[in-house]
Amino acid sequence: METITVRTREHAQLIDITREIQNLLSKSNLGEGIVTIFVPHTTAGITINESADPSVMHDILAVLDRLVPWREPYYEHSEGNAASHVKASIMGSSVRVIVSDGGLKLGTWQGIFFCEFDGPRTRKVHVAFQSAVSG
Ligand code: ZN
Repeated sequence: METITVRTREHAQLIDITREIQNLLSKSNLGEGIVTIFVPHTTAGITINESADPSVMHDILAVLDRLVPWREPYYEHSEGNAASHVKASIMGSSVRVIVSDGGLKLGTWQGIFFCEFDGPRTRKVHVAFQSAVSG
């Protein structure tokens, strides 16, 4: 397993980490298999979506803000960041990507995005490579 560090700059921010994952994959010499990317935080998540147009990331954050307002009278979490926790669960804490010929089998427009919902902070992302059984 490898761990990368992500330093976020905004309270809420989606950061493309595809290149970092591909760099780790290249060093691993994994030809065929699966990579699991796991975020060990309760107010951050991970997702795969469009990396070509940054406005998509803006729109995802805007929709999440409308779905999960920062302040609601019914929130009970005493730390005051209930919205961050809810958004992290909506996005999820891991993604898996197929590896073939040493490359991530992402679609043309896809990238892997770290999702910060309670930044700015220094975050960790765990990356585990699993070799396919060759036949
Ligand atoms: Zn909290």
